[in-house]
Formats: sequence, structure tokens, C-alpha cells
Amino acid sequence: MALSLLSFGVSMGGGMIYGEGKKSEEEFRDYSDSVPLHVKEFYRKNHAFQTVNSVMSKRAEFLPLKRELLSMWEAVERLGTIVDESDPDLHIPRWVHSFQTAEALRKDGHPRWLILVGFIHDLGKMLAYYGEEQWAVVGDTFPVGCAFSEQIVFPELFNANPDINNEGYSTCEGIYSEGCGFDQLMMSWGHDEYLYQVIRNYVPLEAAYVVRFHSFYAAHNKGAYQQFMNEHDKKLLPLVQLFSRYDLYSKDETFVDVEPLVPYYQELVEEFFPDPLQW
Ligand code: FE
Ligand code: FE
Repeated sequence: MALSLLSFGVSMGGGMIYGEGKKSEEEFRDYSDSVPLHVKEFYRKNHAFQTVNSVMSKRAEFLPLKRELLSMWEAVERLGTIVDESDPDLHIPRWVHSFQTAEALRKDGHPRWLILVGFIHDLGKMLAYYGEEQWAVVGDTFPVGCAFSEQIVFPELFNANPDINNEGYSTCEGIYSEGCGFDQLMMSWGHDEYLYQVIRNYVPLEAAYVVRFHSFYAAHNKGAYQQFMNEHDKKLLPLVQLFSRYDLYSKDETFVDVEPLVPYYQELVEEFFPDPLQW
């Protein structure tokens, strides 16, 4: 199916212009007192509502992947309608972020599967299109069913999470065992796990892993939850760290001309995915 540029808000004359320009690396992911109010409000809900029970019910609701049949392209187009209240760094349409992340990876000569990950990694935000509230779509992820790490953003907000009163869920290992591997963890529900389930059968293992854990900042950025890592995680987490630099630092609110890029990404998506996909 052809990609409609108009649905990206792009006129045939070129791209779009955004105001703020490039930030320095230290200015990204700033959750200090200067964090916008809506970001803190987002995490207030996210940390209170992500529980073992709520994650299990979201998984039961969405993971049969019976909602609809949709091509990857249609999913990219829909990203334009989705907001992300957890992101202090980006005020441009989300699909621009897809192109920027992927283009930064392509420029540095990374393999096609990693460029693909850059392009599609946030498409799980489709959950918002299905009416899910922001707390169950975006933001940093973390495992439920064990103690919440102090390395998660705004750890004090977990005081409102009922799971902290459950003894079985509040120890360092909780319901898991040492070295069980990240793939055994029930992660807080959001766009990472959802998209992972949609694409897992069509992309290399490494690509699926990066998608699944790209918001697990406590682990890949702060070194938390090492008690659960196995050899597989030790091998693949550095890839998530590499990807994360592109995910973050390509957020640039300047001119983006996507029109000439479309054929390349159309071909890339067709190389990996059937049309349609089950969502
Ligand atoms: Fe993301
Ligand atoms: Fe992203």
C-alpha cells in the first residue's frame, strides 16, 4: 500500500519546520524540578497503576493480537495522531521521530534490521489509538512482581502502588529467580511489549529484543535489575544501549523533509513484514 504523504502533514513542496533546534546531550531526559508538570503527572499515574494485576489484564486484553489487521505503513501514519505525555524532549509529531531515529542509524552505517528498529520502535503507541490511557502506553518500563528499583524515574511515586504492600512482590527477586533472564519478567505494560509481540516472528532476535526493552532505562541506562540478567541479556543489552543513544539524541526539532525518504523505508518495511500484520 502506498504511503500517503498528506497524512504526515507534508506538502508536496517539502517537509515541515519546527522551532527549537538541537539540544545538548545533558538536556535530554531531565527529570529534575524543571520537568514539565504533565510529565510528573503522567508518572504519578503510571507508577500507581502498573501492578501485577493490571499488567496481567492488559496482556490478556491485547496479546491475543485480535484487534485488527493493519499494515506497518498504516501504523506509521497513525503515529501522527498520537501524543506522548511522558516525553519531556519531543514536541513534534511522533512519526518524525521514527524517521529521525532511523536516519541517524542509517547515516552511521548500521545494519538494515537496526535501521528498521529505529523506524518502527514506537509503533506500539498504537495502544493510545485503541483508547488506552497514557500510563499504559508510554514512559519508562520496569518489572512488576518484584521490588521497584530506586533507579526508575520518580521512585517515590511508587508509594501509591498497591503492590508495595504485597510481601511476595516487594523483595529483590519477588516472583522471579536469580538469572532468570529479562524475557521471564512481566514488564510494566506499554508500547515496548505490545510491539514486540506484533513483530517477534518477522525480525531477527536482536531487533525484537531492542524493541522489547528500549524503555527499560533502569536496566540499560542505570544498571539496575542485574540480578535477573542471563548470558543472553549480557550479550544483547549493549545493543539496547547503543540504540538508545539514537532514540534520544536524534530528537531534533528542526526541518525534516521525509518525502525523499519514503521509498527507502517502504522497501525496508516490505523486506521484513507481511501486509497486513495482526495487531
Ligand atoms: Fe519508545
Ligand atoms: Fe522513541
